Amino acid sequence: MNVASILKSKGRAVTTLRPNATLLDVTKKLGPKKIGAVVVVGENGQVAGIISERDIIRAISEHGASALGMTVSEVMTRSVVACHETSQIDELMEIMTNGRFRHLPVIEDDGLVGIVSIGDIVKHRVAEVQMEVSAMRNYLATG
Ligand code: AMP
Repeated sequence: MNVASILKSKGRAVTTLRPNATLLDVTKKLGPKKIGAVVVVGENGQVAGIISERDIIRAISEHGASALGMTVSEVMTRSVVACHETSQIDELMEIMTNGRFRHLPVIEDDGLVGIVSIGDIVKHRVAEVQMEVSAMRNYLATG
């Protein structure tokens, strides 16, 4: 299974913010949308970074409540690891485990085309295993 099959069922919408948004702005995206990260994009829509709930917690632990007024560019991770629609799910699990993050923007030539979270991967992997079990049961019952 590859990233394209995940995007087919979850859609291609990506929540983005500009680097000059504040951390409070980020919380207003993360909370209502029940997501864990926002992709930061520049003027032309190019990926400039990623900011997740972990970055906000770290900023608050270092600066206190005033951190909510800091800008995204002060806190975001700039070296974003991305994947492609053709990337395999096993590959993504390895990248996330080694990098210790749970979000992977999907980037193609025309820019950002989606985002895959660890939750999306677990959901698809469980569905895949259930299909394998049911095929095996069917085989045993009719074999
Ligand atoms: P997460 O587990 O996704 O909440 O992120 C944990 C840390 O990794 C945070 O500092 C994020 O900014 C960073 N991070 C999340 N996703 C990526 C990514 N695809 N590439 C690089 N860093 C990331």
